[in-house]
Amino acid sequence: MAGDDGHRNEAGNEKAGPDREKEGQIHAQLKAGLLKLYELEKLIPPVDAVRVRREFIESETGTTLENIGIFSIDADRAATRNCENMIGAVQVPIGVAGPIAVNGEYAKGLFWLPLATTEGALVASVNRGASAITKAGGAEVRILHDGMTRAPVFSAKSVGHAKKIADWAEAHEKELAAIAQTTTTHGKMTGLVTFVTGTSVFVRLEFDTKDAMGMNMVTIASAKISEEIAKNTGARLIALSGNMCADKKPAAINGIMGRGRSVVAGIALSHETIEKVFKTDAKSMLEVNYRKNLVGSARAGSMGFNAHAANVVAAMFIACGQDAAHSIDGSTCMTTIDETDTGVYVAVTLPSLPVGTVGGGTGVDTQAECLKILGVAGGGTPPGANAKKLAEIIGAGVLAGELSLIGALAAQHLARAHQELGRGQKR
Ligand code: NAP
Repeated sequence: MAGDDGHRNEAGNEKAGPDREKEGQIHAQLKAGLLKLYELEKLIPPVDAVRVRREFIESETGTTLENIGIFSIDADRAATRNCENMIGAVQVPIGVAGPIAVNGEYAKGLFWLPLATTEGALVASVNRGASAITKAGGAEVRILHDGMTRAPVFSAKSVGHAKKIADWAEAHEKELAAIAQTTTTHGKMTGLVTFVTGTSVFVRLEFDTKDAMGMNMVTIASAKISEEIAKNTGARLIALSGNMCADKKPAAINGIMGRGRSVVAGIALSHETIEKVFKTDAKSMLEVNYRKNLVGSARAGSMGFNAHAANVVAAMFIACGQDAAHSIDGSTCMTTIDETDTGVYVAVTLPSLPVGTVGGGTGVDTQAECLKILGVAGGGTPPGANAKKLAEIIGAGVLAGELSLIGALAAQHLARAHQELGRGQKR
């Protein structure tokens, strides 16, 4: 545990305690504005820097941050790789839903889904959907497309020049891919497409990032590629990210072309399962999906045509060390229900699920444990297999969440579930 003094070494033995005299001087320098908060790691070990910074914030704000100061994650790693100006950790409860049966190409078998959330009723809801999926034989899941993107924007002198830049980039895709290859061992540039708007040229580069979510990887590669484009065309690089990527913004381009892992998950539910698990019927589920997820979303101008895909994406992303801001991409999911002879076929299509099992937050101790629950921590064999497996499992989780909420709405049970579970009241 790295609370208060929190000194430990690899074997868990206590190390020498902090140098209180030095820390007193640091506090005085911080107070006098002679030292910046972000400079602490240069002077003392990260675990001490986190505590000293927290103490400074306590004194500045008149607070006692005793809970933020208690955490088990390795501050040496988190403070240097994951979070600047670290003062501690926020704890989010994790529940499990499942087991959920998944019949993917990478994820096969039963899985317990770790969901980090403070929304009462969410885990229970996903659990109910998971139970229906498992009873029905398991979610069929497929990866439709796999490619992380970065789209630098260049400025041209005229529209004619803009077209020339775009043509040059498209004609030299192979050479640009070879340049990208010098920046990464695992990453591979797999596509290049250009968009011209007036004198702005966007070059949307796509990469297979294997087990990494890949944003850093593709940004580093894109910088090298951009230099080459500028050198050969006279284009002026304006921004390495030109928002045609599109990263962390709800964007139609991701829905149409895909970004990260594009996943589809489906399940056939019999009339009997619908009745037993959801206490409703096929016709009511179809109507909820049609009027809410399709008509309602269209009328609202929504980018997502689903009940609450972002709930499951965000909860699993937080638990599993994914970039939480990418739950915006996950929310572009479309939920469809077809009528069948025996009941319904429900599917979720998630065109943009940026996930990884190496890099980013995946190595933070608690998040790494959640990835272990799913059997996907670290690099896969072959590389890429773990990230794809994670994407398939999340796809199945989203399907479970959709089924449960659509079922609850169809049975008019939603308000009651929230009253009982979200507010801690039992009727
Ligand atoms: P990363 O930790 O920066 O890079 C992944 C690393 O893992 C690479 O160094 C790669 O080495 C290595 N690696 C080892 N085994 C691998 C395997 N099996 N498959 C793939 N790579 C393997 O992580 P990232 O995924 O590129 O970026 C994620 C981070 O980017 C997150 O923290 C996210 O918050 C952040 N982010 C950055 C931007 C940005 O614009 N830079 C935007 C949004 C989010 P090689 O490359 O040598 O193969």
